[in-house]
Amino acid sequence: MDKNISFQRGNYNKGRYKFNRQLLFTPAAYYTQQFAKLRIRSEWVKVRCCFHEDKVPSLSINMVQGHFKCHACGARGGNILSFHRQRYQLSFIEAARALGAWEANDE
Ligand SMILES: [Zn+2]
Repeated sequence: MDKNISFQRGNYNKGRYKFNRQLLFTPAAYYTQQFAKLRIRSEWVKVRCCFHEDKVPSLSINMVQGHFKCHACGARGGNILSFHRQRYQLSFIEAARALGAWEANDE
């Protein structure tokens, strides 16, 4: 085994940029933008799923952690970055950039 093989952050930052989770929207702020009529009354909110033709609200979203799960089509993810990637079919970097969490590297 070659112990020098690792998943390096350099694969993402290309030397000049890096992902900074601290710069992401809060889940509540983000999902309010994504769903026009969203009313946040509790930690979990159900909305009509944007990943399939949804007649009733099937998509559960956690407004504290950002994870989401559709009980009809099975779409799911662990945070708003994952949601953004799936909804707009973006790469990790594209989504991070779109959400303002792709910052210049100071190193
Ligand atoms: Zn769905």
